[in-house]
Amino acid sequence: MSDRPVVTRFAPSPTGYLHIGGARTALFNWLYARGNGGKFLLRVEDTDRERSTPEATAAILRGMEWLGLDYDGEAISQFERADRHAEVAHAMLDSGHAYKCFATQDEIQAFRETAKAEGKSTLFRSPWRDASSDTHADAPYVIRVKAPRDGETVVEDQVQGRVAWKNETLDDMICLRSDGTPTYMLAVVVDDHDMGVTHVIRGDDHLSNAARQSLVYNAMDWEIPVWAHIPLIHGADGKKLSKRHGALGVEEYQAMGYPASGMRNYLARLGWSHGDDEFFTDSQAKEWFGFGGIGKSPARFDFKKLENLSGQHIAQSDDAALLHEIEGFLSANNEDPLSETQRHDLLKAMYCLKEKSKMFGNLLEKSRFILTSRPIERDEKSEKSLDDVSRSILSSLTPHLQNATWSREDLEAAVSEVAETQGLKLGKLVAPIRAALAGRTTTPSVFDMMLVLGRDETLARINDVTRE
Ligand code: GLU
Repeated sequence: MSDRPVVTRFAPSPTGYLHIGGARTALFNWLYARGNGGKFLLRVEDTDRERSTPEATAAILRGMEWLGLDYDGEAISQFERADRHAEVAHAMLDSGHAYKCFATQDEIQAFRETAKAEGKSTLFRSPWRDASSDTHADAPYVIRVKAPRDGETVVEDQVQGRVAWKNETLDDMICLRSDGTPTYMLAVVVDDHDMGVTHVIRGDDHLSNAARQSLVYNAMDWEIPVWAHIPLIHGADGKKLSKRHGALGVEEYQAMGYPASGMRNYLARLGWSHGDDEFFTDSQAKEWFGFGGIGKSPARFDFKKLENLSGQHIAQSDDAALLHEIEGFLSANNEDPLSETQRHDLLKAMYCLKEKSKMFGNLLEKSRFILTSRPIERDEKSEKSLDDVSRSILSSLTPHLQNATWSREDLEAAVSEVAETQGLKLGKLVAPIRAALAGRTTTPSVFDMMLVLGRDETLARINDVTRE
């Protein structure tokens, strides 16, 4: 491979949402480009007009945006390049690397049936390969690439190693249909070449396509890109990925409450590794990512690992970035947007909310104390920790809180002192405080809640309870 600057691409077919496998392919291409000072391009493979929809394109773009996989320049539509594809097919025709084939569907069918009956290969061998086409000037034809019949075609793959196909197993594939439209095999090669793509990273279901596509590169005397065909993703049980295993659109992961950074980290680990590193940042991933770390066997999708990494990313994220992601999470779930006050309050509490929150749902559950106002509605469990005894203990805490300097140290001292005087363990006192402040059992620590709420609000909430 020459030392051309790195150009990778993601080339989804817009026939559905951006699924987890596609997102991982996009991520690998993005990481490789970004880590090597290269470009990452997006090409929408919308050549199949019947199956491609603008809605699917929009969903793919939204998914990439959520994942933060920014691409260089404009997204390219493959369909719009059809004339250029046809031009290349004709160039191959002119140079003798391709030929017009006038065989009809019936003739091809008859050929296959005879071959089958005779126990021969059913690979179609067109009689037009070496014939003159002059006699068929007005008949419809397809353009086929003249594939070599002897020897082998080799794909040097960065993941799969050297893979060879006997040329006798490759047919003269069609590159231009009789209506003048290009086939997928041709379009991919022409586009990759014209876009200057140097590295093709995609699912290993495309490995045998690489062999056939290299025929077009050779016919046009174009430089073959570096190939890296990555193993597919399986479910945790090792079976083909299904909805039950997590074969969902990436947008659904946003709606489930995973942060994009956690998702990127987890997707990078699906099939690629860097030593024993599980948690890493984007800049580490960009620096470390390379073909050597890609495994040959299918990766297994594991929600537990995803959750775990998400929690670590939430804990380490910048507060403002988290707020932005939470707003995206709420909107993905068709929830009301946050008010200015709620945004302000959430930001204030974020430092303690982001600890030990695996997903945004957990984080928001803990944020309830700051997002609701008095009188605090209590759930059953909280209610239970507020009997007469604990109410009177809360009363005795009040003067201490009135005099505290409202530092964490001072608040801890005040609560410990009351616990000690009453001969109680600290935990016994914490439960009623939590009930008074939040009305829930899943909350940040009581000291964090007091610090975030401030003295007046804390005392008012405790007062509400002791006066009941
Ligand atoms: N459009 C193809 C797909 O979605 C990808 C083609 C390629 O990466 O070369 O599977």
